[in-house]
Amino acid sequence: MVAAFARLSTGVTVRQEGGFYVISSNSTPNHTSPYFSRTDSRYQAYNGTNPQYAQNPNQITATSLICRIPVEPQRGASTQATQGGPIGIAINGVPFFNQYAAMNAPLTMEINSFDQYGGHPQQFGQYHYHVEPSALTAQFGRGALLGYLLDGFPIYGPEENGRLLRSSDLDANHGHTHATAEYPNGIYHYHFTADTPYLNGTGYYGTPGTNR
Ligand SMILES: [Zn+2]
Ligand SMILES: [Zn+2]
Repeated sequence: MVAAFARLSTGVTVRQEGGFYVISSNSTPNHTSPYFSRTDSRYQAYNGTNPQYAQNPNQITATSLICRIPVEPQRGASTQATQGGPIGIAINGVPFFNQYAAMNAPLTMEINSFDQYGGHPQQFGQYHYHVEPSALTAQFGRGALLGYLLDGFPIYGPEENGRLLRSSDLDANHGHTHATAEYPNGIYHYHFTADTPYLNGTGYYGTPGTNR
């Protein structure tokens, strides 16, 4: 896990505290976005492919994120639903949110406010991804390790063995178990898919740690 976050110099810190990794970031993307202030060098106008793009009124604000993630992820006794807010963290320190907008409403409308890299800020300015973080998959490949959910299980891009996965290829939690480059002995892992629920289905496969 430490190696995954070391692939980028984004100020994300990872330290071990007992049975948990404590991963700290300021939730700010390491790529450009139309959600930075126009006077910020990281500002870039929307140049994505969604003709319905409608920028939300929020602006990216550095927001402290501290995830405590089990060093040895374990299958949960029962599936715990994900909550609003950060449910995991990408290797660039940006949090992942689940497949719902506020109050369990579907993302249908919110999707149009995702910038060209699949993220947007919430009402307090915390930037996050609900869908494939395309700046990371452009850099590392669409089958790359992209981050972790709070239960400690890794998240990969939508591609596997040269094939784009769909949700129907995965279990109810939106993952499956086999060997990966980083886990040659095999591990449960989630995949992003282009179709809903994008990252996580019915909840955490494992017992989640915490975020604050
Ligand atoms: Zn959102
Ligand atoms: Zn897989």
